[in-house]
Amino acid sequence: MDGFTFADMKEIRRSKLGNQVPLELFRAIRLIGMYQGLPMKGKSTTVTIGRKIGESLPVETVEDVLEVFKELKIGIPRIVKEEERGIHIAVEDCFCEGLPAQYGNMVCDLEGAILEGALSKVWKRKLSIREVKCNVNGDEHCEYQITFL
Ligand SMILES: [Zn+2]
Repeated sequence: MDGFTFADMKEIRRSKLGNQVPLELFRAIRLIGMYQGLPMKGKSTTVTIGRKIGESLPVETVEDVLEVFKELKIGIPRIVKEEERGIHIAVEDCFCEGLPAQYGNMVCDLEGAILEGALSKVWKRKLSIREVKCNVNGDEHCEYQITFL
């Protein structure tokens, strides 16, 4: 076996239950399983997983990245700031929207790492990404600071 590609992920033949899973399952994997279940809130794991997924996405432009992010229902991203050293991307309708606030916690690092992987593929350069806002932290949306390295 050569391993799976992102194209393989679209080969779905589930006749009764279709191609969707409930958001509460995704949340349970992300928050109960990874954020609470792994050492260091899953930090290094989410970065590895997210980057790998991001790099596997069929994207060639920044617009593709934003579009795929929305298609996969990770959230609705938009660039809110462009600077010489990087950009800021805000995400509306993130999976975490509606969860009870837990101030001091930002929980969408996997989603940020997906963005990082996809954007570094498009720009062919190394990036660092930092979660700077999160609904769970009581912010108005989730937001990432992406810096060129
Ligand atoms: Zn979020």
